[in-house]
Amino acid sequence: MSSTVTSGQREFAVRFWGTRGSIPSPKTPQVLRERLKETLEAFRHEAVSGSLSTDKALQSEKAVETFLEQLPHWQSQGYGGDTSCVQIEGADEPMIIDAGSGIRRLGEELMRGPCGKGQGVVHLFFTHFHWDHIIGLPFFTPVFIRGNQIHIYAVQDDVESCVRQVFRKPFFPVGYEELGAKFQYHKLAPRKPIGLQGFTWTPYQLDHPDPCWGFRVERETAKGKKAYAHCVDSEATRVSPVDLGEDIGLYRDADLCYFDAQYTAPEILTHLNWGHSAAPIGIEMALREGIQQILFAHHDPAASDQKIFEAEKQTADFLESYRTAARNGGRTLPGLQWSFARDGDRVVLGLF
Ligand SMILES: [Zn+2]
Ligand SMILES: [Zn+2]
Repeated sequence: MSSTVTSGQREFAVRFWGTRGSIPSPKTPQVLRERLKETLEAFRHEAVSGSLSTDKALQSEKAVETFLEQLPHWQSQGYGGDTSCVQIEGADEPMIIDAGSGIRRLGEELMRGPCGKGQGVVHLFFTHFHWDHIIGLPFFTPVFIRGNQIHIYAVQDDVESCVRQVFRKPFFPVGYEELGAKFQYHKLAPRKPIGLQGFTWTPYQLDHPDPCWGFRVERETAKGKKAYAHCVDSEATRVSPVDLGEDIGLYRDADLCYFDAQYTAPEILTHLNWGHSAAPIGIEMALREGIQQILFAHHDPAASDQKIFEAEKQTADFLESYRTAARNGGRTLPGLQWSFARDGDRVVLGLF
């Protein structure tokens, strides 16, 4: 989804700084070398017998870009290895969901603005406190700058003690009391909306071994109210409107849903009660609840880029057979945009 911004307009956008689950998963040098070799082999093949085989095409400055564009994205880019961190863009002050390892790079970007001068105000919402959602906080540079204010929001009672634990010797050399920024804590009530900088945030419960709260983030745009549904981490054991009860409000008619797909459908069977879901469950949910676009994330740290790409293909097959079954039953399913999220993805929901 993309839009053209005219002067004075802002974008309600969602940016994904970390889409991996459980633990940061950098590629090893061996994997990178293998990837480079496969790519160069493919280029050599194209140069000899494929679309780049004429001299003119190879002399073009665009030859390399053209070639990269035609590679499957697991090979040309991969999915990334940073853990959960999502930024809601559009407000004056940055709003963030979770402090996984992806928040380190976000911190570097924020340091180029008011946070670098000790004049920054940051709003950080926590779904829960598993390591992969808080591990980046000690590497989020704005917390060390005197004058910055960090507002922390969560449904859980013990949010302040969870944050303090992270900045404690012998686990980290800088103590909580030594941090330059001032922290303020805001306890959220389940399913009760709060207004923040023109956006509305509502926490809804997810299905996870420790209490975990997703967020529905909404705001008015030039084309009506738009909604982002953050649904990670969740096993999505409750999927029917009856089972979900009030928590159906997280999903219903969302313009963009961020859904836990750590496992493939067969893997779910051997990971019951691990707290993570699979893409086909999200597809069914999206088609039933009027979701416009769904992004699958919290990729398994053990999964290679190629394996995640295979899961994408399985999801496409599932959707195709699901549509065929519906057609055969005389039903037409709504359209649905979907993909597996990559670190750095950014989706614009509307202008305001
Ligand atoms: Zn997680
Ligand atoms: Zn978790």
